[in-house]
Amino acid sequence: MPDVLKKNIAILGSTGSIGTQTLELIKAYPENFSAEVITANDNYELLVKQALEFKPNSVIIGNENYYNQVKEALKNTDIKVFAGYKSIVDIVESSEIDMVVSALVGFSGLEPTLNAIRHQKPIALANKETLVVAGEIVMKEAEKNMVPIIPIDSEHSAILQCIVGENHNSIDRIILTASGGPFRGKTLKDLENITVSDALIHPNWNMGKKITIDSATLMNKGLEVIEAKWIFNIDVDNIDVVIHPQSIIHSMVQFKDSSIKAQLGIPSMKIPILYALSFPYRIKVDLPKFSFLENPKLTFEKPDLDTFRCLGLAYEAIRTGHTMPCIMNAANEIAVNAFLNNKIRFVDIPKVIEKCMNNNDLLIKNPQQEDFFAANKNTRIFAEKIIK
Ligand code: MG
Repeated sequence: MPDVLKKNIAILGSTGSIGTQTLELIKAYPENFSAEVITANDNYELLVKQALEFKPNSVIIGNENYYNQVKEALKNTDIKVFAGYKSIVDIVESSEIDMVVSALVGFSGLEPTLNAIRHQKPIALANKETLVVAGEIVMKEAEKNMVPIIPIDSEHSAILQCIVGENHNSIDRIILTASGGPFRGKTLKDLENITVSDALIHPNWNMGKKITIDSATLMNKGLEVIEAKWIFNIDVDNIDVVIHPQSIIHSMVQFKDSSIKAQLGIPSMKIPILYALSFPYRIKVDLPKFSFLENPKLTFEKPDLDTFRCLGLAYEAIRTGHTMPCIMNAANEIAVNAFLNNKIRFVDIPKVIEKCMNNNDLLIKNPQQEDFFAANKNTRIFAEKIIK
């Protein structure tokens, strides 16, 4: 990265897996990045610790019940303290911010990310749900405001790295790789008695709870198909999913001349985060390098759509369009949460989602922004009802 460039970063969701790794990178490259704003929802203790270390201009605690604790802990500093979701949405307008890392969990990422785009802030996007629920609006706003959306998701970072310098009309297909999660090779019957702790063990990636469960159901890959469609403007019929258990090839692009480009590396989220922060430059990093000779086997399989129905539901949702992906996403968020709280079984997750998708009352055609909020809210209520 040129020496003169230093970016002030706002991290929405600084205490999560992506947020903490982003801060580690900011710490490692103080000449390139600084933390301008950090936000957390509930984890106020870590937020305070991060604030004292990184001295951001502002911190926001989403859950207003913790405002006093944060304010008190930072009273001897000149760090500004705010509370509430609305403050997270508003803070991205600050003229001091050069880039917004969108790393909130689920639907809550949509509003602050949209507001950041409307205020011409480049986005490093980790919150894929933003594009899943309202991809058309988000990409239109990004185009209108000439705002780059740089994916942090490892697959989409890989695709971006494959297509940099290519013409869009040279692309034939996108091939998203998937590890297959902890239950790869299992049958529906095997999955009936899966516990929360079984599902929270991911073979290759260390991530937050929501995305780890989504990886186990393959919903994460479904969300990524939709995310890829919007970011790269590719029809979903031209997006394939291939199981690649080693997670070394992060994704591939096949071009019209049959040539395929793949992006490879060790599975560390720091690589795509750093690529997004420094895009279009690359920064030297001290991480282990992948060795082909020590890992001579890279294998590939077809995804099992009968056992892992969530992936098929995601294709179905995006083909239906309108608010259907938003409905699917809301139902998934409620179902995953219910599973994490031992209210439903692992195998019930796709059943809840399918019931919501089959409820015609929830679908809103040709949606405007407010319709996504309505579809999200109504689906959550309906999904909670099914679970009870
Ligand atoms: Mg991913």
